Amino acid sequence: MSQPFIILREGTERTRGRDALNNNIQAAKIISEAVRTALGPKGMDKMLVDSFGDVVITNDGATILKEMDVQHPGAKFIIDLAKTQDQEVGDGTTTVVVLAGELLKRAQDLLEMDIHPSIIVEGYRLSMDKALELLNSIKIEVSLNDRDSLLNIAKTSMSSKIISGESSHMADLIVDAALSVEDEGTVDIDNIVIIKKQGESLSDTQLIKGLILDKERVHSDMPKSIKNAKILLINAALETNKTEFDSKLNIESADQVQQFLDREQASLKEMADKIISTGANVVFCQKGIDDMVQHHLAKAGIFAVRRVKKSDIEKLSKSTNAPIVSNMSDLSSKDLGSAGKVEERKVADDDVIFVTDSPQSSAVTILIRGGTEFVLDEYERSIHDALCVVRNIIEDKELVPGGGAPELFIANELRSFKLSQPSKIQLAIESFATAIEVIPRALSENAGMDPIEIIGELNQMYKDKKFTYGVNPIEGKIDDMKKLGVMEPVRVKRQAILSASEAASILLRIDDVVSAKNLGGPGGPSDMPDDMDF
Ligand code: ADP
Ligand code: MG
Repeated sequence: MSQPFIILREGTERTRGRDALNNNIQAAKIISEAVRTALGPKGMDKMLVDSFGDVVITNDGATILKEMDVQHPGAKFIIDLAKTQDQEVGDGTTTVVVLAGELLKRAQDLLEMDIHPSIIVEGYRLSMDKALELLNSIKIEVSLNDRDSLLNIAKTSMSSKIISGESSHMADLIVDAALSVEDEGTVDIDNIVIIKKQGESLSDTQLIKGLILDKERVHSDMPKSIKNAKILLINAALETNKTEFDSKLNIESADQVQQFLDREQASLKEMADKIISTGANVVFCQKGIDDMVQHHLAKAGIFAVRRVKKSDIEKLSKSTNAPIVSNMSDLSSKDLGSAGKVEERKVADDDVIFVTDSPQSSAVTILIRGGTEFVLDEYERSIHDALCVVRNIIEDKELVPGGGAPELFIANELRSFKLSQPSKIQLAIESFATAIEVIPRALSENAGMDPIEIIGELNQMYKDKKFTYGVNPIEGKIDDMKKLGVMEPVRVKRQAILSASEAASILLRIDDVVSAKNLGGPGGPSDMPDDMDF
């Protein structure tokens, strides 16, 4: 008689074989169905409430999934896809999750027909390679002078969000923002600062060539506006040294107290004098500024701001050509940067500081206006997506029509391609083709159109070699996407197809899930969310 041989810690959950696979697929399908109704211009928004009662209203796939408190490892894996898509290309987060879910759903049908997962994985890999090749074959090249294409790309990205009501104005602003930070063919989105201020409406959103700091000057006697600013950036405290430990000072007479205070005053005055002697008229300090120093700077007519964020100091340094000074002892006029104007203005009820007309105008700010905090947050996410797609086009200069047109083209082409393959692989390729059709299908479903009819009509267009036809959910019919100007970056589609296929293949290869004991109470890995409802 052998003793049971225990290698896993007590409480560890283990699911094996088909169960492990089915659980993962089930979880992925649930996640993908949760976001599917958000796809496209007629997609619905989601309202999510976290455990603190904070509300988020969004249509952005990555945000929806980020806000959901999901436990199942398979589900988490799919959610990660949306995150990666967001980081890599900035848009297409719903698409990638919907596609991965559909690939797994179709794979499940094949598994039920006793087709081995490795055959499905092989068929999916072949299909993915072919799909990427096909995507390349229909891409359209654009030039940066083609402003209309850039505008269309931005509008398509925004068309599914609440921001779309103002999409013309916003597209103009977004394209201008991206082009103004463009440098040798690349666009660094980090150079575009987004500031949100409640009040007014989205149409009052502005693009400011320069930086805006959500700060105010330290002293009301300082000037509100400085032309031809000579700027000093300091990352040291303009205060007397505070000791880290309690220290004791033995003072024996009133004279000594006075002496001590005088010395402190003198050192603060010296600090202010040093700044004044550089000829600076604007000071941005990353740390604090003592009242006494503030007083002296104000008397000298200097505009000073304290506790500026490190990232803002760095941006200021880039755009004004001012080095960041950390050692106050050798300050000189060489440490000055410049800007045409530094000004404190009221936006909504807050004071903010505008730094404009700087020599390296590499940074711009989008000042978003809107009624409520929820709306402002969603505007910011949509603007971020649109900035990313415009960046993608400026960098790659390649686009494809949207509205499910490339997906439908790929599905049809895969159906001819599969004929050259062995029969079981053919089934997997067919499943991939059906899965990728989920995009035009979901776009029509979400607009209340009949997906079977629409796919039928689109297939007819494919036969007539009209490859730019896709779903027009706004008018409820099929349409030429190129004519409509519904275009997307190839980069977004490529990344979505690539990572959805890879994710599906990874999950299909798993036949054993070992999860450590769940310390978080109910809802652990073994707690399949099969009754989750959205
Ligand atoms: P994602 O998070 O994947 O970007 P979206 O909700 O933004 O999800 O929807 C993107 C899909 O909607 C793409 O397939 C895109 O081509 C399509 N789409 C966007 N605007 C339109 C439009 N005006 N007409 C047709 N399809 C559109
Ligand atoms: Mg989008």
